Amino acid sequence: MSQKWPFLANLKGKVLFDEPLGRHTWLGVGGPADMMFFPEDEEDLRLFLETKPKDMPYFVLGGGSNILVRDGGIRGCVIKLSSPYFTQILFKKNELTCFSGMPNSYLKKILPEYHIGGLEFLASIPGTVGGLVKTNAGCFSKELKDVLLKARIMDASGSIKEVLPEELHLSYRSSSFAKDWIVIALTLKSTNSPKDEILNTLETQALYRKLHQPVGEKTAGSLFKNPAGYHAWELIKQSGADGLRVGGAKLSDKHCNFMVNTGTASSEDLETLGNQIAQTVKEKTGVLLDWEVEKVGQNK
Ligand SMILES: Cc1cc2nc3c(=O)[nH]c(=O)nc-3n(C[C@H](O)[C@H](O)[C@H](O)COP(=O)(O)OP(=O)(O)OC[C@H]3O[C@@H](n4cnc5c(N)ncnc54)[C@H](O)[C@@H]3O)c2cc1C
Repeated sequence: MSQKWPFLANLKGKVLFDEPLGRHTWLGVGGPADMMFFPEDEEDLRLFLETKPKDMPYFVLGGGSNILVRDGGIRGCVIKLSSPYFTQILFKKNELTCFSGMPNSYLKKILPEYHIGGLEFLASIPGTVGGLVKTNAGCFSKELKDVLLKARIMDASGSIKEVLPEELHLSYRSSSFAKDWIVIALTLKSTNSPKDEILNTLETQALYRKLHQPVGEKTAGSLFKNPAGYHAWELIKQSGADGLRVGGAKLSDKHCNFMVNTGTASSEDLETLGNQIAQTVKEKTGVLLDWEVEKVGQNK
């Protein structure tokens, strides 16, 4: 393959071809990526961007916990920042710099160990640090916006910039994050808190999720954003759309704004179900639901 793509010979990170993306997404579905690149460090990523063919598109995949990759897969290159370099964490007084490939769940161990408070809510969100930015991820009445000090970003030309939160226009599940930007690391504001307090918060949050969300099932979290003044799950229930099913795709019995793949769903089943739910809710309540799960790639 490096004969077809000579630029690959200079890269340090692993490259895969025709990699099924169902292996990398929480919903467990998704066709292949033409190419998948796992850069070893920032320099390797910069070299990739500088030397790849200009017409080769790229998509950065985090933990795959908020995306529905279509059955035809993703053309061009999927970049995954999962090397040891991209999972580093740097400590400074009341500041934590987390590299973008770090799973948020690492915080469950780090926060109590180093008495770092204020970031417990992030620890319970599936996925990686880089994936928090685009949707200004949040839960338990807090969102990334409340704790973000700055983001280290690489643009499509391989240049690095430090971006302040106000430049990202973070709001409820939305931001002005540029399509071709790659998050390298986030610096987060923290407090010094007692270990017991942190452990207690982490435990309470984990228990809440276990009771109210389909933890352990194939899902991508909330299917739709809450429209202003409404809860998406209530609208779904009210309109009777919670019982809809397409192939192996259905809504969770625990939370009807969580779509689950029962094991046999295709991406098409999941997307069709989501669209049917939105249509039913619009007909019955007049409210238009907006997908929170991001749909990417091509149909088969
Ligand atoms: C059970 C469950 C519960 C959830 N609960 C919540 C919740 O409480 N609150 C919430 O907000 N979300 C929740 N989610 C959704 C999801 O976990 C978050 O949106 C998470 O932040 C996505 O991170 P990820 O790394 O998996 O990103 P992915 O799903 O891989 O990608 C999401 C987007 O981020 C982009 N991206 C990822 N990494 C980078 C990077 N390094 N640079 C540039 N762009 C990047 C991708 O290109 C894509 O556009 C839940 C999901 C599940 C499965």
